[in-house]
Amino acid sequence: MKVQTKLAYSHAVIVVLLIIGSVTSVFILRSSRDLIRDIVSDRYLKTIYLDNVMYAVKGIDVSMYKLLLAADNSTGELDNIDKYKMTMTENVSKLEPLIRSGKGKILLKTIQNIQGDYLSFVREQSRAVLLVNSEESKVSLFDKQLKHSAVLLQAIDNLTDYQTYKMREGESLSNREYQMFLGIVLSACLLSVIISFLIAVKAIRSLVNQLGAEPGDIIEILENISQGNLQDEYGLRRNQNKTGIIKYVDILLEELRERDGLVQSELALGTQLEETVYELRRRDVLQETIRSVLEISLEHVPLQSKLQRIMDIIVSIPGISIEQKGCIHLKVDGAEELQMVAQRNLHEHLLTACARLQYGQCLCGIAASTGKTVFSNKLDDLHTVSFEGMHEHGHYCIPIKSGSNVLGVLCLYVRHNHERSKLEESSFVSITNSIATIIEHGKGEDSIKRINKFTQTVLNSINDSLTVIDVNDFTIVSTNNNFLREYKLAGTDVIGRHCYEVTHKVSEPCNQQEYSCPVMTMLRTGEYAMSEHLHYDEAGKEVYVSCSASPIKDEAGNIVQCVYVLRNISQRKYYEKQLQQLAHYDVVTSLPNRILLLDRLNIAIEFSTREGNMMALLFIDLDKFKAVNDTYGHETGDILLREVSTRLLSNVRKSDTVSRVGGDEFIIILTKVNGKLDAGLIADKIIESLNKTFFINGHECRIGGSIGIELYPFSDFDYEIENITDVLIKRADMAMYRAKELGRNRFEYYTSDLSAESENPVLD
Ligand code: GH3
Ligand code: MG
Repeated sequence: MKVQTKLAYSHAVIVVLLIIGSVTSVFILRSSRDLIRDIVSDRYLKTIYLDNVMYAVKGIDVSMYKLLLAADNSTGELDNIDKYKMTMTENVSKLEPLIRSGKGKILLKTIQNIQGDYLSFVREQSRAVLLVNSEESKVSLFDKQLKHSAVLLQAIDNLTDYQTYKMREGESLSNREYQMFLGIVLSACLLSVIISFLIAVKAIRSLVNQLGAEPGDIIEILENISQGNLQDEYGLRRNQNKTGIIKYVDILLEELRERDGLVQSELALGTQLEETVYELRRRDVLQETIRSVLEISLEHVPLQSKLQRIMDIIVSIPGISIEQKGCIHLKVDGAEELQMVAQRNLHEHLLTACARLQYGQCLCGIAASTGKTVFSNKLDDLHTVSFEGMHEHGHYCIPIKSGSNVLGVLCLYVRHNHERSKLEESSFVSITNSIATIIEHGKGEDSIKRINKFTQTVLNSINDSLTVIDVNDFTIVSTNNNFLREYKLAGTDVIGRHCYEVTHKVSEPCNQQEYSCPVMTMLRTGEYAMSEHLHYDEAGKEVYVSCSASPIKDEAGNIVQCVYVLRNISQRKYYEKQLQQLAHYDVVTSLPNRILLLDRLNIAIEFSTREGNMMALLFIDLDKFKAVNDTYGHETGDILLREVSTRLLSNVRKSDTVSRVGGDEFIIILTKVNGKLDAGLIADKIIESLNKTFFINGHECRIGGSIGIELYPFSDFDYEIENITDVLIKRADMAMYRAKELGRNRFEYYTSDLSAESENPVLD
């Protein structure tokens, strides 16, 4: 703040304080004078005789005002107040009986209940209420403008504060008392004036300090006061004889001159501290600005948007005296040219005129070509870009540099004649350094983004589902659209989640025993790996996939990520399953067919051989099945075959195999039997179950079963038997024929004579 302004403020404050002080003093003096005069004229001192004792009552203005004596009658009502109105000339004789009767006490009680009209009457008609309290033989007065009931009631409460003096007979208030009273009043006036001066002077000093005045200012202000130089401005007059204020100011001036050196050094220290604080604050602001600028660099927005945001921040930096205008130019790649990429509040003419600037053109171009800050505080020759009506202004044009490379220019506006400041300049340079980092990073980021975009396009064009997995924690880094489609997922559901969570719907890494994980294999071998997995999509549906993992290595050759390619093979798997079914299972009953039977039989024989268990083969041919076909149709026959298979299964263990090997022929492998009888018992059970009537399509079907049984190991163990399965089946078949021959619906064990028979058939 300029000294003149400070001085003007100081003058104003001094004048205000002097006026307040003077008014207060005059008021106090006037009150005192009136009071003294009243005391002298004895207006406030009256005597009342009670029981022949004179009471001096202080505070009753009996001569000037009518007294309103409000006293209650015996009923306590106050409806006829006028009858108690009286002048002081009437008072003593009328007061006395009231006081004596003790009604004064009732009055006090009643007045506390005063409401409405009576109160307004009191306010308008009187300025005094005399209250009587006979009990304490005291007369009290409340002399004040009565404004409202609260005041009145408060006054009543305070009545005891009024004093009565019990006087000796013939005595009056002594002169000494009066003089003492007068002395007190005068002292109070004097004291108030002195206090006003002290407050005024202290206020001036603190104000001057607050306004940041120099020691010289204080002296100047005081000299002005002392010499009456303020008279024109504020109408203060300096008398020939110095007033109290001026005298005091002179003393103060003297003292100040003596202490000038000390004050000077104190202020110098203060200035130094102020500068330090300013510097610290500036650094804080700068730090905060740079932090905001760098924060912007982390945002996923294009470089141009970042620079625009930065521009907005710079022109709003508190404590730096620049105008809220400016722009950022970036160097055009491969040319000595600047291109405006961000601006704030520029005149529209400049938006086109400064859109592109050649190196050396205008202040920005010079900053770019020289790599140095260009400062100008007026529209000088450097300003080659201008337009009609352009306001006077100046610039800081600071090159944005990365090392010695100029990346662009930050152009800020300053007011006309703005003083170049090193502090400001260094702040802007720090900011441009941050901008340079962002531009460099932004350029890198842009190219990375371009590469990422290209990569993503390539990935999306691949027909297989693809993810990139971080091998350290198995989190998905990226995916292609096919993957998201396949697993019915959104991109946000996938990135950052564990691959096993997404594909296997498990919370722990995959169980390696169930499926070999190609990622793990790849990590172990360091090479491409592949396997088939059963995955589940988001709806829980099975997805058969062939998956492969290809390593992505860092510069040191460590595998850091892998490309995990999944091909949906669910359809292929489905057809394979169908084929499997067709190849190994009977179409009518879904029981294993002959091919599968032979396979299972081989396994069972092996198992039996290894474990030393006995197994049995039951060959079943239904009795009179053809008749069902013939009677109820082929379809009913098919259903009967399925019903038969159910009954057969219900008579054996799960580990046993029931198969259909021909029209109405079934073979059962009992994988473990304790002996011949065991197998016979099961055969019996089967026959029994087949004998029960079948109800099919409303028809009662009755059939039976003839069963041939052979056991393994063979009773006639022969090392020369090569094809055990064939022999087993053949022998059971022969035994079955024996059962047929012997009347059907029964079982027969194979016996060696059957073989002899077949070798030498008995011709019928
Ligand atoms: P037997 O008591 O002597 O065993 O005489 P059968 O009536 O059971 O007749 P047989 O065993 O000689 O012949 C089996 C019949 O089973 C012949 C054929 O008509 C019938 N058949 C064969 N395959 C099927 C089939 O897939 N479905 C139906 N419904 N019938 C079949
Ligand atoms: Mg049959």
